[in-house]
Amino acid sequence: MKLTPLPCPAHEEVIRVEAPEVGLLGFIAIHSTQMGPAAGGLRMRTYPSADAALTDALRLSHGMTFKNAAAGLELGGGKAVIMADPGKQKTPEMLRAFGDAIASLEGRYWTAEDMGMSPEDMGVIAEVTPYVAGLARGDFASGDPSPITALGIFNAIRVTARHRFGTEDLAGRRVAVQGLGHVGWALAAQLHAAGAQLTVADINAGQTESAAREFGAEVVSVDNILTAEADILAPCAIGGILNATTIPNLKVSAIAGGANNQLATPADGDALHKRGILYAPDYVANAGGIINVATEILRISDRPGFVAEKLAEVRSTLDAILSAAAQRSSSPHRLADEIVLEKMRAKAA
Ligand code: NAD
Repeated sequence: MKLTPLPCPAHEEVIRVEAPEVGLLGFIAIHSTQMGPAAGGLRMRTYPSADAALTDALRLSHGMTFKNAAAGLELGGGKAVIMADPGKQKTPEMLRAFGDAIASLEGRYWTAEDMGMSPEDMGVIAEVTPYVAGLARGDFASGDPSPITALGIFNAIRVTARHRFGTEDLAGRRVAVQGLGHVGWALAAQLHAAGAQLTVADINAGQTESAAREFGAEVVSVDNILTAEADILAPCAIGGILNATTIPNLKVSAIAGGANNQLATPADGDALHKRGILYAPDYVANAGGIINVATEILRISDRPGFVAEKLAEVRSTLDAILSAAAQRSSSPHRLADEIVLEKMRAKAA
């Protein structure tokens, strides 16, 4: 295995991880350890190029610094990516080789699940390094974070609905859900139980067929979900989907979802604000998963108590951000960033 440090000025440490003998090429990006050891999931997906994978790791790890700080966790921001198709190319040898790379960082980075990864995969990585969370078994094992992520997003949708429509009651509201994977499916189930009407899209037709059957969801193509008419959009697939091309065509009043890095650029948050579309900052809304994972990293024995307390904190943080945004007529993502930077300044002082 070859580890190559990469100079990335905005990050503390970035390494390229290569082990061609097991088909492995990936990156680990530590954005900041100012608030604690860097923590953030490992993503496996196909990328058009190594540059695209590195960019994803850099953007995601930056987002983790902000997410962990906003949630009040004593964790910094990091993220890892492997360039591979999880359905076809993932092998235990590849995961163990990547685990060796994580071990070499000696606890400066903790991994967990992200897209394309399961608690069982984390178990394989844990064979070679202790710096793994989201495990299915063991002391403090916290398992799949997705249901808690989905619960946090459900809360965020309710708070956002109150700010936009005057009530948290979702009965009869239409929510467009992009992506019905681990998070999107669990969210759709909660929205359906709350009486919301669903419009859904996923590249996996099996998922959308199930959603139509189980939740009475209207199914649209992946090309049409961002122009679907709905009250709220819940992006739960990939990042960068709120951009100069998509924002002018959105037909929703609010956005709150699970995907990381939904805004292609900070200017896109301003564009949403200008269009009067209320945006719940992604890293605030989707912190449930890392809160659950944090119980394992920080060895917290009362996991349900800690998770409930932190989810309530996230809810009030979002409430405060949206209230301040309304008062100052400012974009919520700018206010969220301000709150995090203030927390980091306070910690550094
Ligand atoms: P997942 O891989 O289980 O699900 C993603 C789903 O999106 C899949 O069903 C996939 O087919 C679908 N998809 C991919 N591209 C699509 C497209 N263009 N249009 C519609 N559907 C598409 O991943 P997940 O764990 O559910 O995570 C979803 C998002 O939430 C990711 O951005 C992830 O980083 C973020 N997130 C996840 C967690 C967690 O706990 N799993 C926590 C925080 C943030």
